[in-house]
Amino acid sequence: MKSQDIRATFLNFFKEKSHLIVPSAPMVTKDDPTLMFVNSGMAPFKEYFLGNGVPKKNRISDSQKCLRVSGKHNDLEEVGYDTYHHTLFEMLGNWSFGDYFKKEAIAWAWELLTEVYKIDKDILYVTVFEGSDDADNLKMDTEAFDIWKQFIAEDRILKGNKKDNFWEMGEQGPCGPCSEIHVDIRSAEEKAKVDGRTLINEDHPQVVEIWNLVFMQYNRKANGTLEDLPNKHIDTGMGFERLCMVMQGVKSNYDTDVFTPIIREIETITNVKYGEDLKQDIAIRVISDHVRAVAFSIADGQLPSNTGAGYVIRRILRRAVRYGFTFLNKKEPFIYRLVDVLSKKMGVAFPELKAQKQLIENVIKEEETSFLRTLDQGLLLLDRIIENSSSKEISGDKAFELYDTYGFPIDLTSLILSEKGLKLDEKGFEAELQKQKSRSRAASEMSTDDWTVLVDDSVEEFIGYDALEANVKITRYRKV
Ligand code: ATP
Ligand code: MG
Ligand code: MG
Ligand code: MG
Repeated sequence: MKSQDIRATFLNFFKEKSHLIVPSAPMVTKDDPTLMFVNSGMAPFKEYFLGNGVPKKNRISDSQKCLRVSGKHNDLEEVGYDTYHHTLFEMLGNWSFGDYFKKEAIAWAWELLTEVYKIDKDILYVTVFEGSDDADNLKMDTEAFDIWKQFIAEDRILKGNKKDNFWEMGEQGPCGPCSEIHVDIRSAEEKAKVDGRTLINEDHPQVVEIWNLVFMQYNRKANGTLEDLPNKHIDTGMGFERLCMVMQGVKSNYDTDVFTPIIREIETITNVKYGEDLKQDIAIRVISDHVRAVAFSIADGQLPSNTGAGYVIRRILRRAVRYGFTFLNKKEPFIYRLVDVLSKKMGVAFPELKAQKQLIENVIKEEETSFLRTLDQGLLLLDRIIENSSSKEISGDKAFELYDTYGFPIDLTSLILSEKGLKLDEKGFEAELQKQKSRSRAASEMSTDDWTVLVDDSVEEFIGYDALEANVKITRYRKV
């Protein structure tokens, strides 16, 4: 089944169950000062859960663009390194606002997966919340367990802890126990390697969570305690790209038709073949992922910039440029050339991509050009620093100057130094960074009394450091 039919089938299924189908909300939130990007299907509906508004219908279904690069849900470090976490992804969802609850949500999820999509029951596992003896003191979700028992053998219903089976969008807000549906598409050989262990939630690329059914019944208050919501709701989210992987019988999201047209285009432009070298594969995955995030963001009206959400987008794009520059040897702009195939692929489901294609290409090309210039300049300056240095360690303040004044990424400095057998004085760099942070802290302090953090320096963490790429250890600069 093609990806667009997989999406349409989902929406149709819930339409037939009396759901109103709505388009995705913009990914960049404009009216929520506490959440930078929509990070789950439920985010645009949170006010309905809290009882602060009334939805058009009490059953809704859609495919929501989500971005997980900051705050409580930040997957950026995984993207490209694994094959099933993206920055931007689509979350297919069905909602009940005070209408149906666990019984229908579970029965319909099962019906859709096994009868409509005809996914083999033998590859499915589900989880239920085991309860918690912490301050929340929550009971095990025996209700969900009993419903699942009608559909699936008991030994395939696993109990999960709070981390995996209690869903919260941010530090506050609507939340509740959840039941996740996982697939195990390993070969018999792969299974034998670990004596048949299930490996659910153990980061195996072929044992992944595809759908999360959240039973919304609490609100986490500012003081950390839970209160009952006025009504009980259903909030489900299924990873579209992961579902496509299962439906198309492949082992990686990047081998589905969501990504292959983009990857083929990267291969043509760079003359590098996907699937032959680990580092180049990672770079290709990073670029094919990041171009989507950046293009969708620009289509939503959020251009790269130096502050807030625009800064996050700029850094995602720069990350892609850097991977192209370092591993695919692309010294001139090329990511903008992927927008054409992306908009052809996704433009039907997301017309904003088609409508804004020209703008997206122009903006990306300009950003690429200026960042590549920075990289070039930085390389020259770094060469000079290296020449003039008598020691094997480059001082933190020199590296900081490169980073701060010239915008040269610190991880690239580190990578180049390590390739030349030199070292970076990481502690010195961090000290300089802290000094600068305290200088600017007063200016950037913002209230975070609801949902999740958006203070600008929360993005410091995400560019992170690709230890794998450089084989050297480095600190990640996290918000403190
Ligand atoms: P995981 O445990 O794999 O990180 P999650 O539990 O964080 O997933 P949820 O918050 O439950 O994910 O989101 C619902 C669904 O969205 C998941 O079941 C998964 O299919 C999908 N999903 C979550 N994060 C990503 C991502 N970064 N890229 C692609 N799909 C994702
Ligand atoms: Mg996750
Ligand atoms: Mg999970
Ligand atoms: Mg989950």
